[in-house]
Amino acid sequence: MKKIFTVLLTVIIAVCSISGAMVVDAASKNTVKTSITKIESKAKGFKVTFKKKSKIKGYQIQYSTSSKFKKSSTKTKTISKAKTTSATISKLKGCNKKYYVRIRTYKVSKGKKIYSGWSKSKKVTTLKHKYNKATCQKPKTCKYCKKEKGEALKHNYSNGECLACGKKLVAEANGYKVGDVTTARNTEGDTYVLEYLGEDRWKDQKGNIWTSYQNEDGSMHWWMIG
Ligand SMILES: [Zn+2]
Ligand SMILES: [Zn+2]
Repeated sequence: MKKIFTVLLTVIIAVCSISGAMVVDAASKNTVKTSITKIESKAKGFKVTFKKKSKIKGYQIQYSTSSKFKKSSTKTKTISKAKTTSATISKLKGCNKKYYVRIRTYKVSKGKKIYSGWSKSKKVTTLKHKYNKATCQKPKTCKYCKKEKGEALKHNYSNGECLACGKKLVAEANGYKVGDVTTARNTEGDTYVLEYLGEDRWKDQKGNIWTSYQNEDGSMHWWMIG
Protein backbone atom coordinates (compact mmCIF):
# COMPACT_ATOMS: atom_id res chain seq x y z
CA MET A 1 0.00 0.00 0.00
CA LYS A 2 2.78 2.40 0.97
CA LYS A 3 4.55 1.57 -2.28
CA ILE A 4 1.48 2.30 -4.38
CA PHE A 5 1.07 5.57 -2.57
CA THR A 6 4.68 6.55 -3.29
CA VAL A 7 4.26 5.70 -6.99
CA LEU A 8 1.03 7.68 -7.11
CA LEU A 9 2.72 10.66 -5.47
CA THR A 10 5.60 10.50 -7.96
CA VAL A 11 3.12 10.46 -10.84
CA ILE A 12 1.22 13.41 -9.39
CA ILE A 13 4.43 15.42 -8.95
CA ALA A 14 5.53 14.56 -12.49
CA VAL A 15 2.17 15.60 -13.97
CA CYS A 16 2.19 18.80 -11.94
CA SER A 17 5.68 19.80 -13.06
CA ILE A 18 4.88 19.06 -16.71
CA SER A 19 1.64 21.04 -16.58
CA GLY A 20 3.49 23.75 -14.64
CA ALA A 21 6.03 24.04 -17.42
CA MET A 22 3.22 24.11 -19.93
CA VAL A 23 1.59 26.96 -18.05
CA VAL A 24 4.83 29.01 -18.20
CA ASP A 25 5.20 28.38 -21.92
CA ALA A 26 1.61 29.24 -22.67
CA ALA A 27 1.98 32.45 -20.65
CA SER A 28 5.12 33.52 -22.48
CA LYS A 29 3.44 33.03 -25.83
CA ASN A 30 0.64 35.22 -24.63
CA THR A 31 2.74 38.16 -23.45
CA VAL A 32 0.21 40.91 -23.54
CA LYS A 33 0.35 43.48 -26.34
CA THR A 34 0.06 47.18 -25.79
CA SER A 35 -0.68 50.06 -28.12
CA ILE A 36 0.30 53.66 -28.75
CA THR A 37 -2.35 56.11 -27.60
CA LYS A 38 -0.68 59.37 -28.54
CA ILE A 39 2.40 60.72 -30.31
CA GLU A 40 3.42 64.35 -29.99
CA SER A 41 5.94 66.03 -32.26
CA LYS A 42 8.89 67.59 -30.52
CA ALA A 43 11.96 69.44 -31.70
CA LYS A 44 14.17 66.76 -33.30
CA GLY A 45 12.09 64.10 -31.56
CA PHE A 46 8.71 63.04 -30.28
CA LYS A 47 6.89 61.87 -27.19
CA VAL A 48 5.02 58.60 -27.34
CA THR A 49 2.30 57.63 -24.85
CA PHE A 50 1.03 54.08 -24.59
CA LYS A 51 -1.32 51.85 -22.63
CA LYS A 52 -0.05 50.51 -19.33
CA LYS A 53 -0.12 46.74 -19.07
CA SER A 54 0.28 44.55 -16.01
CA LYS A 55 2.10 41.25 -15.50
CA ILE A 56 4.93 42.46 -17.70
CA LYS A 57 8.46 43.68 -17.04
CA GLY A 58 8.68 46.55 -19.48
CA TYR A 59 8.27 47.91 -22.97
CA GLN A 60 10.29 48.18 -26.12
CA ILE A 61 9.76 51.05 -28.53
CA GLN A 62 11.03 50.99 -32.08
CA TYR A 63 11.22 54.02 -34.34
CA SER A 64 12.29 54.09 -37.93
CA THR A 65 12.38 56.22 -41.03
CA SER A 66 11.23 53.10 -42.85
CA SER A 67 7.61 51.97 -42.63
CA LYS A 68 8.90 48.40 -42.80
CA PHE A 69 11.27 48.97 -39.89
CA LYS A 70 14.33 47.98 -41.87
CA LYS A 71 17.17 47.22 -39.52
CA SER A 72 19.52 49.87 -40.89
CA SER A 73 17.08 52.71 -40.27
CA THR A 74 15.51 51.51 -37.04
CA LYS A 75 16.38 52.24 -33.44
CA THR A 76 15.10 50.60 -30.27
CA LYS A 77 14.49 52.03 -26.84
CA THR A 78 13.79 49.76 -23.88
CA ILE A 79 11.75 50.91 -20.91
CA SER A 80 12.37 48.60 -17.98
CA LYS A 81 9.45 49.73 -15.83
CA ALA A 82 5.98 48.34 -16.36
CA LYS A 83 4.43 51.42 -14.74
CA THR A 84 5.90 53.86 -17.26
CA THR A 85 3.42 54.98 -19.89
CA SER A 86 5.35 57.45 -22.00
CA ALA A 87 8.78 58.00 -23.45
CA THR A 88 10.49 60.89 -25.18
CA ILE A 89 12.84 60.27 -28.06
CA SER A 90 15.13 63.21 -28.70
CA LYS A 91 18.26 64.29 -30.55
CA LEU A 92 17.08 62.79 -33.82
CA LYS A 93 18.58 63.90 -37.10
CA GLY A 94 16.67 67.07 -37.77
CA CYS A 95 13.49 69.01 -38.27
CA ASN A 96 10.44 67.90 -40.22
CA LYS A 97 11.51 64.23 -40.40
CA LYS A 98 8.95 61.45 -40.53
CA TYR A 99 9.24 58.42 -38.23
CA TYR A 100 7.23 55.25 -37.80
CA VAL A 101 6.84 54.10 -34.21
CA ARG A 102 5.68 50.82 -32.68
CA ILE A 103 5.77 49.24 -29.27
CA ARG A 104 5.70 45.82 -27.61
CA THR A 105 5.85 44.53 -24.06
CA TYR A 106 8.16 41.96 -22.60
CA LYS A 107 8.40 39.78 -19.58
CA VAL A 108 11.27 37.74 -18.30
CA SER A 109 11.09 33.98 -18.09
CA LYS A 110 14.05 31.89 -16.98
CA GLY A 111 16.29 34.92 -17.48
CA LYS A 112 15.10 35.40 -21.05
CA LYS A 113 13.05 38.27 -22.39
CA ILE A 114 9.79 37.12 -23.93
CA TYR A 115 8.24 39.72 -26.22
CA SER A 116 4.66 40.33 -27.22
CA GLY A 117 3.78 41.05 -30.81
CA TRP A 118 4.29 44.60 -32.08
CA SER A 119 1.54 47.17 -31.86
CA LYS A 120 0.29 48.85 -35.02
CA SER A 121 2.82 51.47 -36.07
CA LYS A 122 2.04 55.19 -35.97
CA LYS A 123 3.57 58.04 -37.92
CA VAL A 124 5.01 61.17 -36.42
CA THR A 125 6.87 64.10 -37.93
CA THR A 126 9.35 66.07 -35.88
CA LEU A 127 8.69 69.80 -35.62
CA LYS A 128 9.39 71.99 -38.61
CA HIS A 129 12.31 74.41 -38.63
CA LYS A 130 11.74 77.43 -36.47
CA TYR A 131 13.93 80.26 -37.64
CA ASN A 132 15.14 83.08 -35.46
CA LYS A 133 15.37 86.45 -37.16
CA ALA A 134 18.52 87.22 -39.08
CA THR A 135 20.93 89.63 -37.42
CA CYS A 136 23.85 91.53 -38.90
CA GLN A 137 26.12 88.77 -37.64
CA LYS A 138 24.06 85.66 -38.52
CA PRO A 139 21.49 84.59 -41.10
CA LYS A 140 18.11 83.25 -40.01
CA THR A 141 18.96 80.23 -37.87
CA CYS A 142 16.71 77.32 -36.89
CA LYS A 143 16.23 77.28 -33.13
CA TYR A 144 16.21 73.48 -33.09
CA CYS A 145 18.71 72.19 -35.63
CA LYS A 146 20.82 75.34 -36.15
CA LYS A 147 20.32 75.22 -39.90
CA GLU A 148 20.95 78.62 -41.49
CA LYS A 149 18.80 80.19 -44.13
CA GLY A 150 19.58 83.15 -46.35
CA GLU A 151 22.20 85.68 -45.40
CA ALA A 152 23.06 87.85 -42.47
CA LEU A 153 21.61 91.35 -42.63
CA LYS A 154 23.89 94.17 -43.54
CA HIS A 155 25.03 96.38 -40.73
CA ASN A 156 23.01 99.52 -40.58
CA TYR A 157 25.64 102.13 -39.90
CA SER A 158 24.90 105.60 -38.70
CA ASN A 159 27.65 107.90 -37.52
CA GLY A 160 30.14 105.05 -37.65
CA GLU A 161 28.11 102.65 -35.48
CA CYS A 162 25.69 99.87 -36.44
CA LEU A 163 22.22 100.72 -35.14
CA ALA A 164 21.38 97.02 -34.80
CA CYS A 165 24.46 95.41 -33.25
CA GLY A 166 26.54 98.33 -32.09
CA LYS A 167 29.54 97.42 -34.21
CA LYS A 168 31.76 100.45 -34.74
CA LEU A 169 33.31 101.37 -38.03
CA VAL A 170 36.98 102.07 -37.83
CA ALA A 171 37.61 105.70 -38.56
CA GLU A 172 39.29 106.39 -41.88
CA ALA A 173 39.14 102.71 -42.86
CA ASN A 174 42.03 101.38 -40.84
CA GLY A 175 44.64 103.87 -41.88
CA TYR A 176 43.82 104.19 -45.60
CA LYS A 177 43.89 107.70 -47.02
CA VAL A 178 41.55 109.04 -49.65
CA GLY A 179 42.78 107.89 -53.05
CA ASP A 180 44.53 104.77 -51.72
CA VAL A 181 43.87 101.62 -53.78
CA THR A 182 43.51 98.08 -52.50
CA THR A 183 42.13 94.77 -53.71
CA ALA A 184 39.37 92.77 -52.08
CA ARG A 185 38.16 89.30 -52.90
CA ASN A 186 34.63 88.05 -52.38
CA THR A 187 33.69 84.52 -51.28
CA GLU A 188 33.39 83.44 -54.92
CA GLY A 189 37.00 84.40 -55.44
CA ASP A 190 36.36 87.46 -57.65
CA THR A 191 38.90 90.21 -57.14
CA TYR A 192 37.95 93.88 -57.04
CA VAL A 193 40.23 96.89 -57.15
CA LEU A 194 38.91 99.40 -54.66
CA GLU A 195 39.75 103.04 -54.36
CA TYR A 196 39.24 104.69 -51.02
CA LEU A 197 36.81 107.64 -51.14
CA GLY A 198 36.87 108.47 -47.40
CA GLU A 199 34.31 107.77 -44.67
CA ASP A 200 34.42 104.04 -45.22
CA ARG A 201 33.32 104.28 -48.80
CA TRP A 202 35.21 102.62 -51.62
CA LYS A 203 34.67 102.50 -55.36
CA ASP A 204 35.51 99.61 -57.67
CA GLN A 205 36.42 99.68 -61.36
CA LYS A 206 32.76 99.49 -62.38
CA GLY A 207 31.72 102.36 -60.15
CA ASN A 208 30.06 100.20 -57.48
CA ILE A 209 30.29 101.65 -54.00
CA TRP A 210 31.62 99.49 -51.19
CA THR A 211 31.95 99.97 -47.49
CA SER A 212 34.34 98.41 -45.03
CA TYR A 213 35.01 97.57 -41.44
CA GLN A 214 37.87 96.20 -39.50
CA ASN A 215 37.51 92.68 -38.10
CA GLU A 216 38.46 91.92 -34.50
CA ASP A 217 41.76 90.47 -35.73
CA GLY A 218 42.57 93.72 -37.51
CA SER A 219 41.87 92.44 -41.03
CA MET A 220 39.63 94.52 -43.28
CA HIS A 221 36.31 93.43 -44.63
CA TRP A 222 34.57 95.04 -47.62
CA TRP A 223 31.13 94.68 -49.13
CA MET A 224 29.20 96.33 -51.88
CA ILE A 225 26.42 98.69 -50.91
CA GLY A 226 25.36 100.07 -54.27
ZN1 LIG B 1 15.53 72.97 -37.91
ZN1 LIG C 1 25.30 95.29 -37.16
